[in-house]
Amino acid sequence: MKITNVEPILVSLPYEHGAPKPHRNSIGSWNTLDILFVKVDTDAGITGWGEAFGHASSPVTVSAISEIISKLAVGREIDDKGILIPDLTRRTQSMARGGPVGFALSGLDIALWDIAGKAANKPVWNLLGGSKTKPIPAYASLFRCTTPEAISIVSRKAVECGYKHIKLHEHDPETIAAARRAIGPNISLMVDTNCFWTSAEEIISICEKIQRYDIKWLEEPLYPADSYDLLAEIRKKTKVPFAAGENLGNFNDLRWLIASSAVDYIQPSIAKIGGITGLLKSAEFARQKSVKLAPHSPYLGPALVAAMHVITAMPEEIICEHRFCELGENPIGQTIVSKNGHLHLTDKPGLGLDIDLDVIQKFRRN
Ligand SMILES: [Mg+2]
Repeated sequence: MKITNVEPILVSLPYEHGAPKPHRNSIGSWNTLDILFVKVDTDAGITGWGEAFGHASSPVTVSAISEIISKLAVGREIDDKGILIPDLTRRTQSMARGGPVGFALSGLDIALWDIAGKAANKPVWNLLGGSKTKPIPAYASLFRCTTPEAISIVSRKAVECGYKHIKLHEHDPETIAAARRAIGPNISLMVDTNCFWTSAEEIISICEKIQRYDIKWLEEPLYPADSYDLLAEIRKKTKVPFAAGENLGNFNDLRWLIASSAVDYIQPSIAKIGGITGLLKSAEFARQKSVKLAPHSPYLGPALVAAMHVITAMPEEIICEHRFCELGENPIGQTIVSKNGHLHLTDKPGLGLDIDLDVIQKFRRN
């Protein structure tokens, strides 16, 4: 089976999350949410769908797919994914160790697994060794609210929806305290700061203030994300567990982060670190090193579904990151059922995506 077309499709979707929309991030807008699909056609008539990390990098990742990866992939045999992706990764070695070209390859890998499942008439979780679908415990990944009032409303709403685990994107102790008060003592609470602080002193100070709120993990407290040695030093001086890894560009980065003893939870991102293949390899290594896996998956399309397939096939119970919001319209339809804090997959072939081309066309940006 040969690849005949690789196409990036960027959609921007309206959404609500129960509070005023977050303001702009460092370079992008939060007024809509993006899905950057990677559509892969074959000469066998099977189409696969992947997703590359987009967000603020979407325009660059779109170019990486159409200008670099598509040109290398079209015409190639895909019956053995184990040959194609490593070959493309090597041929783009000067630009694929992290960033948009790596994101593009990750999206291609996910699409190839979708195709492999469809060709075998089996769900991907089954190809990965899973024996049956099971409800996947999820954590509600809340948008940044910034005020104690707003975070109280949204975090309480997440509990009402059945989530037993909630992650905030807040920086200040008062807002974190408000969330803990709103959800009570029996819900696990994580705090993601997206590399907000730059010094050990700031992080040690914040940890001393928030440890009383029983924080399951503090995520990416330090900028830049690859200061593994400094993060490890800080971790020794705090009682709050650390999580990081969504900004890792490749497997060696993951090895070094784990080797530095900087984290309690490792968070490879399926749409950045090599797709399903990259996440599986990362998970295997984390297991060998006894570091807990908490995949980064605040995605809304094939990347989230792909992460769910990997989690379904894992022996450990892993909680799946699930963005807490309602989309105005959903380009993957009813693919994912979210109920009582759990996500449910089907046993349809491939990733089991219920692609809605009308919605894609309506919200397409490229
Ligand atoms: Mg994060």
